[in-house]
Amino acid sequence: MFQTSMRTHTCGQLRLENAGSRVVLAGWIRKIRDFGNIVFIDLRDSYGITQLVFEGENLKLASNLEEEFVIQVEGVVRERENKNPKLSTGDIEVVVEKLNLLSRAHAPVKPYDTTSEETNLKWRFVMLRHEDKQQIFKFISDLMFETRNFLHNKGFKEIITPFLTKSTPEGARDFIVPSRLHRGKFYALPQSPQLFKQILMMSGFDRYFQIVKCFRDEDFRANRQPEFTQIDIEMSFVKRGDVMSLAEELVKYLFEKLLNIEFSQFTVLTYKEAIEDYGSDKPDLRAEDITVVHLDNVKGGCGFRIFESANHLSATFIPVKLSRKESQNLEKELEENFCKAAVVPFSDGNFSGPIGKNTSSEFQELVIKELSLPSEATVIFVANDAATTLIGDIRNWLIRKFNLAKKRFAPAWIIDFPLFEWDEEEKRFVSVHHPFTDFEEPADGKLEHATSLAYDMVINGEEVGGGSIRISSPEKQQRVFELLKISPEEAEEKFGFLLRALKSGAPPHGGIAFGLERLAMIMLGLDNIRDVIAFPKTTSGMCPLTDAPSPVSERQLVELGISLKGQH
Ligand code: ASP
Repeated sequence: MFQTSMRTHTCGQLRLENAGSRVVLAGWIRKIRDFGNIVFIDLRDSYGITQLVFEGENLKLASNLEEEFVIQVEGVVRERENKNPKLSTGDIEVVVEKLNLLSRAHAPVKPYDTTSEETNLKWRFVMLRHEDKQQIFKFISDLMFETRNFLHNKGFKEIITPFLTKSTPEGARDFIVPSRLHRGKFYALPQSPQLFKQILMMSGFDRYFQIVKCFRDEDFRANRQPEFTQIDIEMSFVKRGDVMSLAEELVKYLFEKLLNIEFSQFTVLTYKEAIEDYGSDKPDLRAEDITVVHLDNVKGGCGFRIFESANHLSATFIPVKLSRKESQNLEKELEENFCKAAVVPFSDGNFSGPIGKNTSSEFQELVIKELSLPSEATVIFVANDAATTLIGDIRNWLIRKFNLAKKRFAPAWIIDFPLFEWDEEEKRFVSVHHPFTDFEEPADGKLEHATSLAYDMVINGEEVGGGSIRISSPEKQQRVFELLKISPEEAEEKFGFLLRALKSGAPPHGGIAFGLERLAMIMLGLDNIRDVIAFPKTTSGMCPLTDAPSPVSERQLVELGISLKGQH
């Protein structure tokens, strides 16, 4: 480590073999224990904690010190009487002889503050001093370093793409930035560097990557942030399998290098299989035996009116038989988090309650067979009008709630997505990934039935990455725009630059992007995205630390030619 002049060691460095040496340490006061004739102080820096002792003629040095003051001390290392095996420096203490107060802490600082999210984020710098938080951000730094290391070794070059740019369609709203020099015109912050990375391939760079910020102005959604980081990758002269192999190798390398975990085989599921078996395109495969069954085709005449009249009926299960009371509680929780559901205990071939009584034996046998129910279980039926993936979300949630996950990490690829889906609101087809995704020509010749050459990487029920082979012919791109009801004029206006590049000799190319924070979160076993972002925003997109977003001066508005309407 680079040695600086204000200390001889860090607070995580001293060991028994240092006993007797004279040292200088610097850091924050974490805790003071005053016993009258002896004072102990835990001194903390980014590397650890060291116990300081103030005694005898140096006792007075400890007076007037408070938690979170920043101090520099000189003293002699001594073997501790009461060793602390939990601390890396727990065998020793430093008997202080000189103290230099570097900075007081005037503000009401509490490193373990657990009050409202807003207060926590406002005082984020105090929270971040805490050892656990320091570990998280050191891990993410290593994650980025190792990613760069791996990709450099595979011949990838990191190339920077613009932030002040034009809209890139990834399905979210853009953040826009007004231009002062071109009044009335706006830049968009990139939702991803998608088009630039494709154009880099057309510019002859064979392998690109970038660890890059992306911006998406989405409405409130838990565990999302308006700005996040991607490990963005693109390669030329590749087929789907090439990009998937590279991505798989990268993830395996990161798990091994950083967590010392040998990653198991990736399960490959088609989109159809994932939906049929698990009701989700991001199934948690740590509990492979927990499947779902779609009962739309058999619900008519099943004997239970609520089931018969719903648009969709599906079921999943947990391999434990809940009591009546527990079932009722689970029903309540499911309704709060997802939708109304029927929780039905099952044992030795029998479903209990009204569903057991009223549904036909054919129906019951089918559910038992399709779910491969064990002798004791609880079945969750969902009858509603919502999409088929609701049951999959419920399944993922149940696996976590009831601790049904077996392996620690279950990585999977989901492939063969449909290229388009129908948007009922807009009454038109929209891309499942983005409009630049290549596809296999559909057997019936109908583009709307095409299967895309996209792939998503899913770990433990979370999508950590996704990508595709891109369209590399302008004619094919035009066909997709047509189906998406993007007129040639609109295509020219929005993506003219891409079309121009496509027409100038484009290699076959494809890539993938990983959500860096999402990946870090899974690797660290955390479940809140804010834990892995140093200065996150609240769920409503505010930054309590800086108070962003905030009003700008009248003069700035005038320069931009902007006037605000209504209340502000
Ligand atoms: N640009 C895509 C995304 O941000 C990823 C990719 O296709 O490479 O989701």
